[in-house]
Amino acid sequence: MKRTWIFVVGTAVGVVMLLMVTRCGVVPDETPMAENRPPNVVVLFADDLGYGDLGVYGNPAIRTPNLDEMAEEGQKWTNFYVGASVCSPSRAALLTGRLPVRSGMYGTQERTRVLFPDTPGGIGANETTLAEALRARGYATGIVGKWHLGHLPEHLPMVHGFDRWFGLPYSNDMQQTAERDAPFLASIFLRPRSEYWNVPLMRDEEILEQPADQTQLTRRYTEEARAFIEVNREQPFFLYVPYTMPHVPLFTDEAFVDVSAAGLYGDVVEEIDWSVGQILDTLREHELDGRTMVLFTSDNGPWLVYQQQGGSAGPLRQGKATTFEGGMRVPAIFWWPGTIPRATVHEMGSTLDVFTTAITLADGEAPADRPVDSLDLTPVLFQTGASPRNTMFYYRADELHAVRKGLFKAHFITEGSYGEPPAREEHDPPLLYHLGEDPAEQFDVGPQYPDVIADILAEVKVHRQGLDVAPSVFDLRSPPEQ
Ligand code: MG
Repeated sequence: MKRTWIFVVGTAVGVVMLLMVTRCGVVPDETPMAENRPPNVVVLFADDLGYGDLGVYGNPAIRTPNLDEMAEEGQKWTNFYVGASVCSPSRAALLTGRLPVRSGMYGTQERTRVLFPDTPGGIGANETTLAEALRARGYATGIVGKWHLGHLPEHLPMVHGFDRWFGLPYSNDMQQTAERDAPFLASIFLRPRSEYWNVPLMRDEEILEQPADQTQLTRRYTEEARAFIEVNREQPFFLYVPYTMPHVPLFTDEAFVDVSAAGLYGDVVEEIDWSVGQILDTLREHELDGRTMVLFTSDNGPWLVYQQQGGSAGPLRQGKATTFEGGMRVPAIFWWPGTIPRATVHEMGSTLDVFTTAITLADGEAPADRPVDSLDLTPVLFQTGASPRNTMFYYRADELHAVRKGLFKAHFITEGSYGEPPAREEHDPPLLYHLGEDPAEQFDVGPQYPDVIADILAEVKVHRQGLDVAPSVFDLRSPPEQ
């Protein structure tokens, strides 16, 4: 009897110990390797979508039920910044975690603020992209959409860490086939046709179609993204979907023509919303929603000169190509059901931070041989700590125009978008806005806060001490013939 009792207790202790050890991961788990794999990372990156263009960010006309639901299930960030307010530098910042002044991915001439089909420059071989960093950790890597980091063979996605690519090498308003006649230009954006822009659609190194049928881009990107997820569902993957839209010229599939009260721009955003819903559904169908971090954001603010076709920055001032909030602050929704608690996050974050955050999730380390401007946002995502980001440097080309620290933002130089007002103006002492009380940047409170200005100037001094400005790689060509 006593023996039996000892045996029962012994067995019970043994089972409990085995369970504990198994939980700690000392004994190999019986579950497949897949259970221990790092999370997938999906970055959905709209082009020129403004802070005020989604339902969940207050747009009163454009319907975005899928993005609204994504925000409801995840985290909506209200102080999230891009690394630059135009396409190519912003994309370089996202994929390298470095300010464009460090990588040379900026242009100083009016027509080289982004890369053009006649610009030989592009992302440098010495840069480490997020795709390269994650591929080194065993991830499958795919890009579906607009690249815009150099169209020559040595700059294409396949050379910079991506296994697969389907999309455009640059913006959809480039390679214009029509004469540069002002009334005609205005009309082609109002009633665009794909053949007005001889933009190639590529798969890996091959041109599939030229000009690309722009009405089908969002639909085809969605199909390609779904297929990538299905093919790679058994292994960790990084999927980057830089949509071509809603950058002008605006196009949708027939199914989204005249569906929105917000006109053509609304149609285009509603199609992107549909696309996001399809991609999230694909993750759910394959039970990958619990092991995939998805971020939806934009590369820069709205292109306001296109008026109704240019989107809205909501309550924020100005838009694309400026260092006002409307140019640099964008919608950002993080989604990872069961892991990222639901929240509205008012702390600061940046597309620059996606690099280090994703590498941290993959249990890797950011490259140590170069300075990065990227911070680990996982404490905020998991709601275990505060955001490490308390400052943001707003560059235009290689000039520092503004700095945010905490709730205050100092402007040293203000300037409108691409020759639009307001005219360039230098400020000494800087303009100072309180972004909590005054997110629209209307009221200069500099005279009331000399200590804040002094503190920001000290921050700039430290920043410049560690900064090795690389020459622009966009300006390496003769000026365009007019
Ligand atoms: Mg853009």
